[in-house]
Amino acid sequence: MHKFRSLAAVFIFISVLPFTAAAKKGDHVPTPSEALGFEVGADRKLADYRQIRTYFKTLAAASDRVEIQTLGKTTLGEEMIMAVISSEENLRNKSKYKEIARKLADPRGLSKEQVNALASDGKAIFLLTCNIHATEIASSQMAMEWAYKLATTQDPEMLRRLNDVIVLLVPSLNPDGQIMVTEWYRKDLGTKYEGGAMPYLYHHYVGHDNNRDWYMLTQIETRNVNQVVYHEWFPQFWLDEHQMGSYGPRIYIPPNADPVAKLVNPLVHRGNNLIGASMGWRLEEAGKSGVIYGYSYDAYWPGGTRNTGWWKNMYGVLTEAASARIATPMQISPTELQGGAKGLIQYEQQINFPNPWPGGTWRLRDIMDYELLVSDAALETMSKYRQELLRGVASMADQAVHSADPAEFWRIPVEGQRDPVVATRLAALMLDHGVEVRASSDKKEFLIPTSQPYGRFVDEMMGVQRYPEVRPAPNSGILEPYDVAAWSLPLMMGVQAAKVKISAEQQHAATPIKNVSWPTGGLNGQSSYYAIADRQNNVFALVNAMQKAGGSVFISNTAGQEPAIIFAAHPQLAANAEKLHLRLQAAAVAAQGTKPLKPVRIALYKPYIASIDEGWTRFVLEQYGFNVKNIENKEVKAGNLNAAYDVIILPDTSREVIVEGRPSREGYFEDFPPEYSGGIGKEGVRALRDFVEKGGTLITLAHSSELISGEDFNLPVRNALGGTGGDEGRRATLTGDFNVPGSLLRVYLDTNHPVAYGMPQEIAAFVDAPIAFQTSEPGPETQRSVIAWYPDDARDILVSGYAHGTERLERKAAAVSFTKGKGRVVMFGFRVQHRAQTEGTFQLLFNAINWTE
Ligand SMILES: [Zn+2]
Repeated sequence: MHKFRSLAAVFIFISVLPFTAAAKKGDHVPTPSEALGFEVGADRKLADYRQIRTYFKTLAAASDRVEIQTLGKTTLGEEMIMAVISSEENLRNKSKYKEIARKLADPRGLSKEQVNALASDGKAIFLLTCNIHATEIASSQMAMEWAYKLATTQDPEMLRRLNDVIVLLVPSLNPDGQIMVTEWYRKDLGTKYEGGAMPYLYHHYVGHDNNRDWYMLTQIETRNVNQVVYHEWFPQFWLDEHQMGSYGPRIYIPPNADPVAKLVNPLVHRGNNLIGASMGWRLEEAGKSGVIYGYSYDAYWPGGTRNTGWWKNMYGVLTEAASARIATPMQISPTELQGGAKGLIQYEQQINFPNPWPGGTWRLRDIMDYELLVSDAALETMSKYRQELLRGVASMADQAVHSADPAEFWRIPVEGQRDPVVATRLAALMLDHGVEVRASSDKKEFLIPTSQPYGRFVDEMMGVQRYPEVRPAPNSGILEPYDVAAWSLPLMMGVQAAKVKISAEQQHAATPIKNVSWPTGGLNGQSSYYAIADRQNNVFALVNAMQKAGGSVFISNTAGQEPAIIFAAHPQLAANAEKLHLRLQAAAVAAQGTKPLKPVRIALYKPYIASIDEGWTRFVLEQYGFNVKNIENKEVKAGNLNAAYDVIILPDTSREVIVEGRPSREGYFEDFPPEYSGGIGKEGVRALRDFVEKGGTLITLAHSSELISGEDFNLPVRNALGGTGGDEGRRATLTGDFNVPGSLLRVYLDTNHPVAYGMPQEIAAFVDAPIAFQTSEPGPETQRSVIAWYPDDARDILVSGYAHGTERLERKAAAVSFTKGKGRVVMFGFRVQHRAQTEGTFQLLFNAINWTE
């Protein structure tokens, strides 16, 4: 008996323990407020990312419905996390559900019955990303509350949803920025600066543009998430929660506004609108007013988080809630409410805005409540339409495969490219995107089939854009693009690629690859010197690496020969050349036409009205190993700049920002704390002029050329497109006779000019502002050169995107330089290093930095 009883006890122990332990890991699951020790969502209270991450880990330890996946490190070294939330059983079987999602995303070889069976067995994978823009902070707080709710609910309906759906919840896509914003906010609490803007970018490199990076994948945070989405989890739906301005609607939900991208499968928008309709319903039902759709955010541009996925058969939705002053409430008078954007010109009741918000108090808590409702509604719809949505993904993938000609491929040859490394990088980028890429049997070219699940994405990225001219009413103007209008990667990267048809034999010989093989670098022959043509971006990385290692570098430009960079033999040369995939040839050095390249000390001006272009420029220069330091107002004003720097770069920002420290637009401008107010002032302008006169090189990017073309420098150059530029110029582009919102335009180069050495005579230049130069002959002490110019027939100007008023660019200069004694000014009107995407024109900037007399 005794023995039997104990055996029974053991039996019960064994069978019950795993069950009870699994159902309840801890005794008590703390709410976010309990765990953090303050009321989350209360006025003037914010959890920073480290607290949020700790809370999520606490939640995962206490609940069997929550697991934490580390996505990687951020730019500044924070651990970036994603919570995986679902029923306990789904989490136990997550590899099975990932596999089903992967098969539905690429259903090649599956029968209709197999697809249906997978859609029936599979779980909907729902990716919710928060807080990509660090000041749009409510969603990072909301994420904790929503996760707590999902982890602890006993509501049968909620449990059913969690059985149907696996939620991937990223509490912040920008942890570094979230921490910067919370620290800045806490520092100024209770002062007159409370809730005010930060005087620096809220991402180490790219600030707000972290949501412009999703086709180029340059930033580590983008890459971390891209990996999870297109190589591991294959979510069918991506919801990205943002905030917008404070004086319009309370929240934007889908449908998007016009125009719509041609190549996106319409089922994407049908899925998005289904989810959007349920968001609108649940918000209204809960008494939330001010909900709008068909507003501002178009369905054309692929640069943001979830949009890129549209071309990969993924549903993706953006929401934008009205902002408070970070966590400080706002009082908004009804008289202050305004429309003014596409879809809501006047702030009044419309069918897409049936219940306008009347004004009043708006606080962090309100934003979080709206966001909790849209998150719930998305989960509800994913659960309700799980099988339809899953089948839809497979059917879109199938259509992408079958609507394309199987003989049709994008061909990227490696040999014969101006920059074979960049050409290879384009193929590598496509692989990162989850695209099928093949290598030809001789390994000399990459071949990308258009007939594949992500074939529409391939065509969008490799082809040229023509912006759809949609008019909202007869005789009205067209709808303006939301962001840029061109993203043709081969053109931006300066890579030759073409859509070709290849034989069945070649198709079979071309094998899908997992990784690219980079061009083999190293040294050919034996000599005291090694040379390479001056026409690859990585040549500058090698120059910088060898200068750092104490090596000698020269530039040679003998008449009739292509400019070359020459490296003196050095123990580290071969290894560096291999690492950078550059092949150098043993060379004799002709004394004539050969000049030493000295290490260059670069200052990059950093204004307090943070310039995203400053961040991108810093990123690009650091990637290539340039010795770059930021320089701020105080240091510029102090003068004597030649002692510390050889080159000063002014990023794309207006003259008013540089000189006065405020935007040029009239109206209210909220002061920064005194240590961040003002610009370089008159002393700073004098110091920059002095820097040039004493032999420095001043490089201006886009709008910062206003400093040169105005009275400050008194050089014979002006902006042919209307003078002021800056914010006024930008406004003129919206109302006036010229609009190039970010397009690729044809520009010719004088390749005998040192800034254009090694470049082709014709390029696709990225243009996003009304800037073109009109020069005239200066006095005898100064020389001016036109480095780049537009064609003399407007019809030849647009290459990809949208351009209105190109007649005004005919025969105008696109980049110019002035030399004065030993000093120089180089002015780029177009965007040589735009968002680290225009690799085809980086060299113009690199050459300008290394310009020797
Ligand atoms: Zn945003």
